[in-house]
Amino acid sequence: MEFESILLPGIDDKRPLVIAGPCSAETEEQVIDTARQLADTGVKIYRAGVWKPRTKPGGFEGIGSPALAWMMEAKKETGMYMSTEVATEKHVYESLKYGIDMLWIGARTAANPFAVQEIADTLRGVDIPILIKNPVNPDLELWIGALERLYNAGIKKLGVIHRGFSTTDKTIYRNLPQWHIPIELKRRFPTLPIICDPSHIGGARNLIAKLSQQAMDLNYSGLIIESHCSPDEAWSDKAQQVTPATLKEILHNLVIRDTVQTTEDLSDLREQIDDLDNELLQLLAKRMRVSREIGQYKLEHDMPILQTHRYDQILTDRAGQAERMEMSGDFVKLVLEAIHSESVRQQMVIMERAKSI
Ligand code: PEP
Ligand code: MN
Repeated sequence: MEFESILLPGIDDKRPLVIAGPCSAETEEQVIDTARQLADTGVKIYRAGVWKPRTKPGGFEGIGSPALAWMMEAKKETGMYMSTEVATEKHVYESLKYGIDMLWIGARTAANPFAVQEIADTLRGVDIPILIKNPVNPDLELWIGALERLYNAGIKKLGVIHRGFSTTDKTIYRNLPQWHIPIELKRRFPTLPIICDPSHIGGARNLIAKLSQQAMDLNYSGLIIESHCSPDEAWSDKAQQVTPATLKEILHNLVIRDTVQTTEDLSDLREQIDDLDNELLQLLAKRMRVSREIGQYKLEHDMPILQTHRYDQILTDRAGQAERMEMSGDFVKLVLEAIHSESVRQQMVIMERAKSI
């Protein structure tokens, strides 16, 4: 897939591209007042949810089409581009009818191929930029599948929004960032604009600045941040919305590191990394060899592949050792789990081969 890098005319490609606005359009005054304040701080693209996906019925589910008219009023007054979330064919028709400039597909919708296909079919032949949020579950292929559905419908102005992944674990985040997933997406599609949504990752105002900086350090193209004229009174997501004044401060404090030139020092260090990776791979191959020998032994002695007690002991022991070596225990557990699963796979091959002889 090849993407058009300019999503909207007149928005320069200086990082970060900023999209800001309330979680939900609530009243005409709130939409216009927030838009005015954001335009004054230099924001060029406004966001507001018109249809809100809620976990349970009965909450505030969005104003619907009348809010689109308020947004167009805000556009007339401020000159900002307008964007909103669409989840159905009707949402798309209504947004296009009113003249919304950019659409996004929410995290719950992105997880549903039927819904994404319905949106793609409705947009066939329409030249409008679309941003696709990551699906709620950490499934990169599903995210890419959503991109492909829109791309195949002729949409070339595509971007993605990283809003984190749902978890039942207790963490400081509302949605786990799992940065490696968007990083892998960027590796596969280097020209795809990638925008961070620190509001839905963090779920709390005090996390927005740090997450925004992390996204900039990972070379993201932009940020989508929820901003409301009076966040404490917001009808949805109040804990994570910031005032336009706070947003201005957050953006002002961002450090944008854009140097691409590779210095001599850096290439020396990169060579060291290449050598070390090479050593790591050789060590891993050696470990697999031993593991295959163990597989052979287990086969000859009728032992099962998985020796749970031994595996558990390895994990605990190595995690402790890792921490003494200034690495996170969880990180090393993850590495060992991956190594162990490859060992098991290789031992299974040995068992199966023996069965087929
Ligand atoms: C939103 O942007 O307000 C929203 C509902 O986000 P998400 O789809 O990421 O939950
Ligand atoms: Mn929200």
